[in-house]
Amino acid sequence: MNYRSTRGNVKDALKSSDAVVQGLAPDGGLYVPVDFPKPAYDLEKLIQLPYQKLAQTILQWFFNDYPEDQLADGTTKAYADQWDNDSIAPLSKQKAGFNYLELYHGPTLAFKDIALQMLPQLMTKAIKLNGVDRDIVILTATSGDTGTASMRGFSNVDGTQVIVFYPDGGVSPVQLKQMLGQPGQNLTAVAVKGNFDDAQTEVKHIFNDQAFNQRLIDNGYQFSSANSMNIGRLIPQVVYYFAAYGQLVEQGRIKLGDAINFTVPTGNFGDILAGWYAKKLGLPIKKLICASNENNVLTDFFTTGKYDRRRAFHLTSAPAMDILVSSNLERLLFDVYDEDAASVKELMERLQNDGWYQITTDAKAKLDQEFAAGYATQGQVTGEIKYVYETSGYLIDPHTAVGSFVARQYQKNSHDETPMVIVSTASPYKFPETVYHALTGQNTQQQGLPAIKQLHDLVGGELTAGVRELFDHQPRQESVIAPDDMENLIAQVLKLK
Ligand SMILES: *Cc1c(COP(=O)(O)O)cnc(C)c1O
Repeated sequence: MNYRSTRGNVKDALKSSDAVVQGLAPDGGLYVPVDFPKPAYDLEKLIQLPYQKLAQTILQWFFNDYPEDQLADGTTKAYADQWDNDSIAPLSKQKAGFNYLELYHGPTLAFKDIALQMLPQLMTKAIKLNGVDRDIVILTATSGDTGTASMRGFSNVDGTQVIVFYPDGGVSPVQLKQMLGQPGQNLTAVAVKGNFDDAQTEVKHIFNDQAFNQRLIDNGYQFSSANSMNIGRLIPQVVYYFAAYGQLVEQGRIKLGDAINFTVPTGNFGDILAGWYAKKLGLPIKKLICASNENNVLTDFFTTGKYDRRRAFHLTSAPAMDILVSSNLERLLFDVYDEDAASVKELMERLQNDGWYQITTDAKAKLDQEFAAGYATQGQVTGEIKYVYETSGYLIDPHTAVGSFVARQYQKNSHDETPMVIVSTASPYKFPETVYHALTGQNTQQQGLPAIKQLHDLVGGELTAGVRELFDHQPRQESVIAPDDMENLIAQVLKLK
């Protein structure tokens, strides 16, 4: 299984383990399979596998230059007792109507753990397989959860350094506490003035800065990425779509072969793209519904075929979705343009230079078949949190609430009664201020940990180990820099000559 750039030539393709180590293609494109896997499998047997085995099977389809025993070892370690639920991704049916796929039972309380507990396994094994003798510098822009999850996943992993940039004032108090409190010799997290897109743009720029990359190599380092731009981060997310389907069959809510819908709270388009890959592998999915918050560039894109980032940026209560340039959409464009890399390159250059592009009617028609989209305002998000709690006694976080609201609206407008799974991306305790406010109409007295206590006093029940652990570590001092200083900071951290 070889990987090529969405903007480049097949002849420059790499094997999967190299693509994992590289993270991003040198031409700025994203790695995609040269030949998308078409495995022959028995769906009934597949979905009965325990999560670890399911993950191993699916990963083997995409990463077949890793020896089987290594993927077995990796998936066993990635999905072990750092999860507070044996199913890893349990599905919870609620009276309010939907099935919520809870992806937040890992150590940092958001769905990023699913991939970022696995990525270090893929990365360290790739380093050994390919005899890489440099230290890997995981350089990451984060809207909050990727930062916490990659620091946790790579903490004290030999041969790696993690440098995380997050938008100053753009992450939740709990996320900030997690990033500044995560122990590990090899971890750095720094705030950047500006929003997530500013940080992500500069990270992409640094990745493509040839001179700086050479300097890194001269000092015994090389960059990689833990963003969903990295194929090693994306593929582990395909697994839970199959796991959700398996649980629906097992619970007798659907029959084997029935189609289902997923609504996915979307930011960088990694999560929903994994759903698209699951569908390409043959999982019976009818529609993937892309849910956005007030940063609704994707809603407009799916409605009109025009992607236009020239608009106001909103800081919302669902910060992981405060994104105007959704990187992984590029991989979907590659598919709907029939793998025509030249067209993808042109669209991406237009986005960079002019701030917008329009896709062809042919490409648009293909998207209409597979996807739907909608968005929720801040008021609709809090309304949804309250509604779901009052009808079901079930707490959801603001990101999940965006999905839940958009799914409800989609069903109302489309009359599509296909069983619906909402991908639930974070624990409500990761965003206690918003959830508390939604339930009571009152603000919490303080932010962060005291707000968790206050929310817990209100709703009762057991706090999971992951939430309790938040109270354990003392945070480091925060530092804030300008985007222009990011390269310098990296040089400093790594003590580059
Ligand atoms: C990252 C994240 C999202 C968005 O996922 P993408 O893969 O970036 O589209 C949604 N919700 C939460 C809680 C997240 O952490």
